Parts: sequence; C-alpha cells; structure tokens
Amino acid sequence: MRLALAEAGRAVRGGDVPVGAVVLAADGTTVLASGHNEREATGDPTAHAEVLAIRRAAADLGEWRLSGCTLVVTLEPCTMCAGALVQSRVDRVVYGARDEKAGAAGSLWDVVRDRRLNHRPEVIGDVLPDDCARLLTDFFRNSPRTSSGDSHRPDR
Ligand SMILES: [Zn+2]
Repeated sequence: MRLALAEAGRAVRGGDVPVGAVVLAADGTTVLASGHNEREATGDPTAHAEVLAIRRAAADLGEWRLSGCTLVVTLEPCTMCAGALVQSRVDRVVYGARDEKAGAAGSLWDVVRDRRLNHRPEVIGDVLPDDCARLLTDFFRNSPRTSSGDSHRPDR
C-alpha cells in the first residue's frame, strides 16, 4: 500500500485526483505494474489507476489473465474498475480508503464479490485508510473545482 500511495502522489502532477494502484505477482511481493489516475492528464475517461495498472500487468505477463495476482489501490474501486478487476481474474483486491458514495467493492455496491459472477476476488479493505483518505481530502481542499462544496466526493 505504501507503493500505491507513492503512485497516487504522482497523479497530482497531471491535475488528477490522487489514486494509485499496483499489481503484485502471484508471489505476493513482485511488483508487476503500477498506475495512477490519469484522466485529466490524458483526457481518457477510463484512465483510472486500477485500469492502467492491470493493463500494464497483463502486457508484462503477455496475457489477459492475472490469476494469482493482487491489485492494491488507495481508494475502493468504482464500478468500472470493479468490473475490470473481475474480468482480469485477479485473486485479491486490497484497498485503502472506502468510497461510500461510489465504491463497488463493498460500500455502495459489491461488484467484485457478486455471487452471480463466476470469478470473485478476495477483498481486503481499510488498509492504511487514513493515509489514503488524507491524500484525497488534501487534494480537494486545494482544488478550485471543489470550492462550491461536495469536497469529499472523490470524483476522479
Ligand atoms: Zn475506477
């Protein structure tokens, strides 16, 4: 999670909400890939940290199945990323801060563990949640976009 936090910090340079992700190989320690939110930087609505990290991990492995891998992300995945994580067949999703307003790994929805789906990764939440949330609250406090309120919504 420390690596994901460092990755999250890189998002701010591109004007993006600080969310970072890393994909760990099946051994649980080798970092296959990392990513941070690049939606503003690239103008790509799907450029969330998780999507970028799993794309890079798959490219590194040379196949789309990330079986055995763990994705670590600083903020609870949204519905898009939760869907991508299910599709990638990762074994484990570890997240930091909960996203009560848009989280899809247990807060608002639980897409990753939906019993109707064939693949359901294990979910471990609330890992260093205060550190992960602090990055977001600091970012929104300093962002002119949120001066009109709604400052706690991590709308990345
Ligand atoms: Zn997402």
